[in-house]
Amino acid sequence: MPRHAVLKINLKAFTSNLNIVKKYAPKSKIWCVIKANAYGHTIKAALQGLRKTSGFAVLEINEAIFLRENGWKGPILLISGFFNKSELFEICQHEVTTVIHSTWQIDILKKYNINRPIHVYLKLNSGMNRLGFNKNNFIHSWNELYQLKKVSSLTLMSHFAHSYSKSSVHQQLKIVDSVFSKIKKIPLCLANSTAILLHPETHKSWVRPGIILYGILPFQKNFFDQKYDDFEPVMTLESKLIAIQKVNSKKFIGYGKNYYSKFDNIIGIVSCGYADGYPYNINTSGTPVLVDGIRTQVIGSIYMDMLTVDLKPCPNAKIGSKVELWGKNIKINDIAQSARTTSYELMCKINSRVSVKVE
Ligand SMILES: *Cc1c(COP(=O)(O)O)cnc(C)c1O
Repeated sequence: MPRHAVLKINLKAFTSNLNIVKKYAPKSKIWCVIKANAYGHTIKAALQGLRKTSGFAVLEINEAIFLRENGWKGPILLISGFFNKSELFEICQHEVTTVIHSTWQIDILKKYNINRPIHVYLKLNSGMNRLGFNKNNFIHSWNELYQLKKVSSLTLMSHFAHSYSKSSVHQQLKIVDSVFSKIKKIPLCLANSTAILLHPETHKSWVRPGIILYGILPFQKNFFDQKYDDFEPVMTLESKLIAIQKVNSKKFIGYGKNYYSKFDNIIGIVSCGYADGYPYNINTSGTPVLVDGIRTQVIGSIYMDMLTVDLKPCPNAKIGSKVELWGKNIKINDIAQSARTTSYELMCKINSRVSVKVE
């Protein structure tokens, strides 16, 4: 019997989320960020659902090549740039725009001949303190690259460290502005999902949405006054009941003595576990799950290949009943909160043994 755990990808949701991003940032071009296998949704599905984007941003050169091989002729941004000289040659060959964030990358670019000039996103560290040149080094590098024939265009890129906070974003914008005032006018690319939603003043020439394209808010809903109901989750992690157990009161369920059933219980065994990507360390009570269309909760431990759910609220549940672990009805952000992680991690950690169904 094939396993039932399946990742459903809703292409219409992809397209509608992209249209919503366009409404938020009507004057900007859009890099759809599809690194990490499109946040677990598969690059192939992202390419299908997000065709109307201005460009795609990826982390690995192989992701860029995959896009080219599958017919994408538009812009591609390598979001952390090349990692070695052979990737620089591939960037040239496949006409990929590269980020440059460090002098070692400039050294490689200067040292090796390439057969056509490349577009460069020069990264400014305006406060994130991860990748990028500090203010003064940036201007120096900008001058250096500006004079290189190997560089056909330059864009200033930066990333926000704390994009929920207006004051933090504005502190970083100040640094961007002070650099921008000292160089020839070039396009700017700053905003991730949170900045797109909360700070229109950051939109500039290009925006870089990731998580909102997948229909997930980068913050817990109602954290801000405004509602963002229109985004629709693209991914649904679904499985089925493969067994039902009636457990008498005062019995333990599962390994060890993790879960004690005080009362008579009916529990369902779901074919999905931590080896599929469901988080092991969720709260032991109150983590939501949808069984047979009814909201109930996960109980007991998460196993490698299975988990157990409370069937008391679902009297009609039977073997084969559909179980939604997260998706349209069960918010992935709620599961992430229960597991003390982020929805980003949950999406990226879905195991390759889960079959993907694009619909
Ligand atoms: C991942 C990433 C993004 C997208 O971030 P979201 O929070 O998913 O919108 C944007 N810019 C850079 C540099 C990134 O690494």
